[in-house]
Amino acid sequence: MDGSDASAMAVDIRLNEIRDTLVLPDSVSYVRGIVRTLGPADALRRLLAEDARADHDPRLRYLRLTRSLGADINGSPTVAVLEADVVGILLPLYIGISGRFDQTVKEEHDLRLGAVAPEHAEGRVLSQLARDMKALGLRGGTTTLWVDKPPCRYCAPVLPSITKQYDVTLTIEFALI
Ligand SMILES: [Zn+2]
Repeated sequence: MDGSDASAMAVDIRLNEIRDTLVLPDSVSYVRGIVRTLGPADALRRLLAEDARADHDPRLRYLRLTRSLGADINGSPTVAVLEADVVGILLPLYIGISGRFDQTVKEEHDLRLGAVAPEHAEGRVLSQLARDMKALGLRGGTTTLWVDKPPCRYCAPVLPSITKQYDVTLTIEFALI
């Protein structure tokens, strides 16, 4: 076995390790597609860069690991953490995960998020904050939302609803590749 065989084998091992962590069929087909398009070595580089987005805030990685959500590649579950600095909110940390890995907040809040964002991690953390602020009759303050992928086209336009409806200044933190 020469050096290039050895490194090709190391790439395959690493790709399999990433594949084994995945919990959604969409993520598995995403990996298959990107390996086909870029070739194994570049695909691995790309997937490792995507996964590194979960290190933007240590809590994002912690949640992915402790809840077995796998590598943070495109098409995998999304994790969001929201920290609120709002007078009257005494437990100011909210956690949201997309899809079947968490629950959608229904009825108790009036935040306008459209049809899709309430199922997404970002919509879920903001729904929880809006629910608490509505219950306590609060307005104002600031909040920071950390998310392990850039907000999608459904979430991005509706996340400012928390500012429009509750007067909360929102900062969104995520890593780009
Ligand atoms: Zn979204």
